[in-house]
Amino acid sequence: MRITCDRCGYEGEGEEFRHIGNVMCCGSLIFRECPSCQNPVVCDRQDIRADAEETAREASRQVELALASGDTARARELLKELSFLNQCLNLDAVNEYIRERKREIRRMERAAAQ
Ligand SMILES: [Zn+2]
Repeated sequence: MRITCDRCGYEGEGEEFRHIGNVMCCGSLIFRECPSCQNPVVCDRQDIRADAEETAREASRQVELALASGDTARARELLKELSFLNQCLNLDAVNEYIRERKREIRRMERAAAQ
C-alpha cells in the first residue's frame, strides 16, 4: 500500500510509516507517522471507508449468526459495535438495520422470559 504524507508530500510504502494509533471513530483503522516530517497521516479516506464498510458487513454477518443461535447478548454487543462504526459511515440503511435487529432481540428476549 502506497501512502503519501499530506504535509510534506513524502511518498512511500505503508511499512515505512510507523503505526501510531487508531482512528477512534473506526476502531480498526490507523494513523501512521510520516518518516520524513513525523506528521500523523491517516490512510487514504477512500480506503478507510472501504475498510469500515467491510467491518460493518462482517459485524452484520456476526449479528445474524448470533441471532440464529439465540445469543441475544452477543447480538446486542455486535449491534453496539455496528452503530459505533456507523458514526463514521453514516448510512441510513445501517441505522435502519440496527433498529430492526434491536426490535427482534427484544421480541426474542420477551419470548425467552415466558
Ligand atoms: Zn511528511
